[in-house]
Amino acid sequence: MSDQAEKRTQNIAKLLKTLHFNGPMRRRELSQKLDIRPNSVSNIVQELIAQKWIEAVHPELPRSQLQLSRTGPWALAISTDGNDVKLAQINLYGELSEPEILCTAKINPHDFMLQVEQAVTHKLNHNRAEAFLGLGISLSGIVNPDNGDVIRSINFGPWRQVALQQNLNQRLNIPVIVENDMRCMAWSHAWFDHLSETYHSSLFVGLGRGISCAMLYKGQRHSGAHHLAGEIGHIQSGHENRLCVCGKNDCLEAYVGIDSILSMAQQLFPTQMPIRFESDLLPWLDHEPRMKNLLNRVAEHLAKVLGPIVIAIDPEVVILSSEEKNFCNALIPYLEQQLQPCLLGVGLEKPKLLAFGQRQANELRGAGALIIERALLSQH
Ligand SMILES: [Zn+2]
Repeated sequence: MSDQAEKRTQNIAKLLKTLHFNGPMRRRELSQKLDIRPNSVSNIVQELIAQKWIEAVHPELPRSQLQLSRTGPWALAISTDGNDVKLAQINLYGELSEPEILCTAKINPHDFMLQVEQAVTHKLNHNRAEAFLGLGISLSGIVNPDNGDVIRSINFGPWRQVALQQNLNQRLNIPVIVENDMRCMAWSHAWFDHLSETYHSSLFVGLGRGISCAMLYKGQRHSGAHHLAGEIGHIQSGHENRLCVCGKNDCLEAYVGIDSILSMAQQLFPTQMPIRFESDLLPWLDHEPRMKNLLNRVAEHLAKVLGPIVIAIDPEVVILSSEEKNFCNALIPYLEQQLQPCLLGVGLEKPKLLAFGQRQANELRGAGALIIERALLSQH
C-alpha cells in the first residue's frame, strides 16, 4: 500500500472510531478533532455513506451531524447458554436482531462447523455481500485469543484442541474470531458501553451453570500465559464432599453454579415441584429469610475464591454478571460482607461491586464487538 493510501486508511479508521466513542459529530468537528483537512473529511464521509457505514442524523439538512449507521453492516455472533447455540446479528450500536437457534450445545466440532457453515452461507446468500463484517464466536472454556483455537471446552462437548477459527476461516467468505465467553462479555461492556473510560481495571465474575471470570486492564483483555486466566470454577471452596461435573469434589461450581443453588433451594424450601430460578427464587429475594440464608452461603463460597483474587489484582470494580440482574443485585450486600475479612488488614480500598444481567445477550454483543472493532479499525 502506498503511503498516501495507508494514511487514508488510518484516517477512515480514526473517523469511524471517533463516531463510535463520541456519538454524532459534524464534518467540521471531525476535521478539527482528528486534524484531517476538511476536503479529505468530506471525501471520506461521502465514501462511508455510500458504503452504508455512516449516515446523516438529519438527511434533509446539508450540514447534518453524522453517525454510525443503524441499518448495517452487521457482525454475526454465536454463543451458547449451555443448552442451545444461538446465532444473531449485531449492528454497530450493539443491538441484536434476527436471533435463531442454530443447534444444541452438546455437539461435536465437525457437526458444529457444518451447522455454522450452512447458517452463515444462507445469510450471505440472502443479503448484500458486504452486509456482514464477520462472525464472532463466544465459547466457554480455554480459548487462545491469538489464533482462536479451543484448547478445552466442557459446555460444547467436551472439545479438546480444536482449531475452530482457522477451520471456519477456510470454510467461510467472512472473517471469523473465536474468544472465551467471559472475555466476550467483558468486551461487550468495554466496546458498546464504554466501561473502560470509567474504570481502568475491572474484574467480571460470570454466574451461571459454570463460574468463571475475566479481567480488563487499561482497556485490554487479559488471557494469561496459557489462556487459563479466569478459570476459577474448579478451585476448592468447601468441605461437604460435593461432586462437581469435572469429577473432583467441592469445586466452587458445586456450591455457586446455578444448578447447585437450585438444589440448595430445594432443600431449604421442601416441595414436590422442581424449583425454577426465575419464577420461584427471584420473587423471594427480598423478603424470605431462608433466601437470605441461601444468598449468604453462596456469598461465603464465592468470597473464599474471589477474596485472594481481588487482593492480587486490586480492581476498581468487580462486576457480577448472570442472566438475572436481580439475583446479582441481591447477592452484592452479602458478598461485600463476606469479602470484608479477606480485605481487612491489607489496607486495600474496597472495589465497587456492580450487577449486570442478560449474560447471553452480552456474550453475543461482545463476540460481535470483536468483529466490528477489527472491521472498523481496518476499514478502507
Ligand atoms: Zn470441578
